[in-house]
Amino acid sequence: RRALDLAAAALPAVTTDGVRVQLAANIGTPRDIDRAVELGCEGVGLYRSEFLFMDRDSFPTEEEQFAAYRAVAEKCGEHLCIIRTLDVGGDKPLPHLDFGRESNPFLGWRAIRISLDHPEVFVAQLKAVLRAGAYGKVAVMLPMIISAAEIKKAREYLAYAAGELEREGKAFAGNIPLGIMVETPAAAVTAVRLAGECDFFSIGTNDLTQYTLAVDRGNQRVRGLYNHFHPAVLRLVNDVIGAAHDNGIWAGVCGEMAGDPLAAALLVGMGVDELSMNSTALPRVREKIRGISAAGAKELAAEALLLNDGEQIRAFLAETLGDHS
Ligand code: PEP
Ligand code: MG
Repeated sequence: RRALDLAAAALPAVTTDGVRVQLAANIGTPRDIDRAVELGCEGVGLYRSEFLFMDRDSFPTEEEQFAAYRAVAEKCGEHLCIIRTLDVGGDKPLPHLDFGRESNPFLGWRAIRISLDHPEVFVAQLKAVLRAGAYGKVAVMLPMIISAAEIKKAREYLAYAAGELEREGKAFAGNIPLGIMVETPAAAVTAVRLAGECDFFSIGTNDLTQYTLAVDRGNQRVRGLYNHFHPAVLRLVNDVIGAAHDNGIWAGVCGEMAGDPLAAALLVGMGVDELSMNSTALPRVREKIRGISAAGAKELAAEALLLNDGEQIRAFLAETLGDHS
């Protein structure tokens, strides 16, 4: 059984008509990478770096971060390791950072906003990422982007970080890809413009669903309303993938949606290039993709996009794809 699983993990996620989709892993700490590699991940699509920053009373140093990023980059081998910069705030507080009183933390001081307000913290992180790039293929990804200006500022800090390393004589990768999470309605709607400022998109459907539907992703009371198949979410996701391709960059999905086999089939139909998920979801998503044709998935997506209700869309996909789980 184990031998069979290992053999299956080595198979590429390719549709019956030959369209290849990159299957990557979401990880929180370097400890997660071994299991992900065993399950056949092709690199890391989302390294949630914030776990390095939590449960401690000061910011991790550049050295500490470098050690963690390097360990993961090395294990990714020839595949890309996408390191997301600090994404705290909202439901992820940092004990040593004063957030003041926020009545709407999810709409407050979080993610890229904190990094741009604390250049010393941001630059230390960027330097660690660039240095890890000397040991593997790394990319940097910015969370919660809402404007081109934020990407431009981040790029300036990235160039500054490279300059510092140059002066210090440390080894680093000069030209790493810079991508953004598309996880706010603002970024999704203006994706055409943002595509010109970055090298790739990774759609964060967890937050994109939360912000598009105005439904708190962690609130049990409104759980029934939280659905990544809501037509508004699907339309944004489809448009973002199209905007990426029209502008010559690739688009992936790294929210929970990517690890849902029914959704994965739909995303393949929308032309998604990469799906990044918790590693336990890799086998069933790989199996689903190997069982469908991209042409069929495209028709499926076109039909799904015409339906009016998230639950109806989920049922339609389950029915059509023969999955009643
Ligand atoms: C997302 O928002 O979809 C995402 C992948 O990021 P996180 O779940 O860490 O907010
Ligand atoms: Mg998010």
